[in-house]
Amino acid sequence: MPGWAPVLGPVLRVAVVLVPALKASRMAAHSMASRALKNPYRDHDGSAACSQGLFDQHGGVLQLELTADFAGRLRSKISELLSHMENGLKSADPRDCSGYTGWAGIALLYLHLHSVFGETSYLQRALDYVNRSLQRLTRRTVTFLCGDAGPLAVAAVVHHRLQKSQEAEECVSRLLKYHQDVVKGSRNLPDELLYGRVGYLYSLVFVNQQFGQEKIPMQYIQQICDAILASGESLSKKRRMQQQSPLLFEWYQEYYVGAAHGLGGIYYYLMQPDFGVGEERLQGLVRPSVDYVRQLKFPSGNYPPCIGDSRDLLVHWCHGAPGVVYMLLQAHKVFGGDGYLADALQCGEVIWQWGLLQKGYGLCHGTAGNAYTFLALYKVTGDPKYLYRACKFAEWCMDYGKHGCRTPDTPFSLFEGMAGTIYFLADLMQPQKSKFPAFEV
Ligand SMILES: [Zn+2]
Repeated sequence: MPGWAPVLGPVLRVAVVLVPALKASRMAAHSMASRALKNPYRDHDGSAACSQGLFDQHGGVLQLELTADFAGRLRSKISELLSHMENGLKSADPRDCSGYTGWAGIALLYLHLHSVFGETSYLQRALDYVNRSLQRLTRRTVTFLCGDAGPLAVAAVVHHRLQKSQEAEECVSRLLKYHQDVVKGSRNLPDELLYGRVGYLYSLVFVNQQFGQEKIPMQYIQQICDAILASGESLSKKRRMQQQSPLLFEWYQEYYVGAAHGLGGIYYYLMQPDFGVGEERLQGLVRPSVDYVRQLKFPSGNYPPCIGDSRDLLVHWCHGAPGVVYMLLQAHKVFGGDGYLADALQCGEVIWQWGLLQKGYGLCHGTAGNAYTFLALYKVTGDPKYLYRACKFAEWCMDYGKHGCRTPDTPFSLFEGMAGTIYFLADLMQPQKSKFPAFEV
């Protein structure tokens, strides 16, 4: 079994990208406002006139339809950006197999475009890119986004759609070879999404959802959840935190809070009703741990990147409200009451105000990733205000490159660059079905 701790080598890329940004942010006396561009849009005022030209407000809750004009604008921008992306990818790192910055991410985008638009040429592109990825597996990292499970899971689905069942089976069986090691957690496997257990878990869920059947038995998923819970209980005990948070998780000696490396991302999975956590552990372990994260909320409504970090700076999917919101909405679905939803709605306000990021238009720490918050809120509340806000952030993204934003290290990739923006614009075409890629279940 290859090791997964990102100590050296190209797989470290993601860690390097995320962590120094964070450390630098702690040193700078900046604010959320300095990292965002001023939101120039008028907010939704509750009237149907407000959404005119974007979507039709006559439909029932969750049946709002984009206008033909707006859908056409999205469609033509998608084509335009795709051709930019294809051109840009000619100079991308040929060795990067990953979903986050490499070929598997591009394959996932094309698979998504095939789902949304039904054009077979997209499926062929997905096959080409995933084959490129499979030739360059890390043999070290096991997750969907940064390791080998993503390429294998995406390849399984592409072959399945092409009705190549033998190839699909082979990918699934290669994917499952990692399972026992993930459960055992040898070589200090973390639990978080980018490098840890939930990142592998997502690969299994992705296969089942895309195949539309329980291709991978739920016991596999439950066993991973059991291992995550045991790991979280053990760390909480070791740090004498059981009273505050019966579960606790760390990555690189920090207790991260957000979706990419932290507690919010892990708890989002542990609250999925089919994953076998069960009522007793949900109420006794997960719920108080979720409540512990809730009380880390800043007065603004945003969340810190790590426990103990008092600087309210980052409004990213990876660190801050745009990632934590998924945990809050899932807690609302599972536990009910008004508190979780109120906190989630507050995330929506933070992101509307400070979510148009200097860092660009990507998913991980960019405007497209932040826009998914509004789609998530729309799916739960049915409130047209959130669809409106998602459309406005999409308009911002459609002015790609015109705001003087930073260019990411991998400008065409799924998680940092243009592929992610295209993914979001395509998802907006079918808002009820939208899901933050490689994360949302
Ligand atoms: Zn990020």
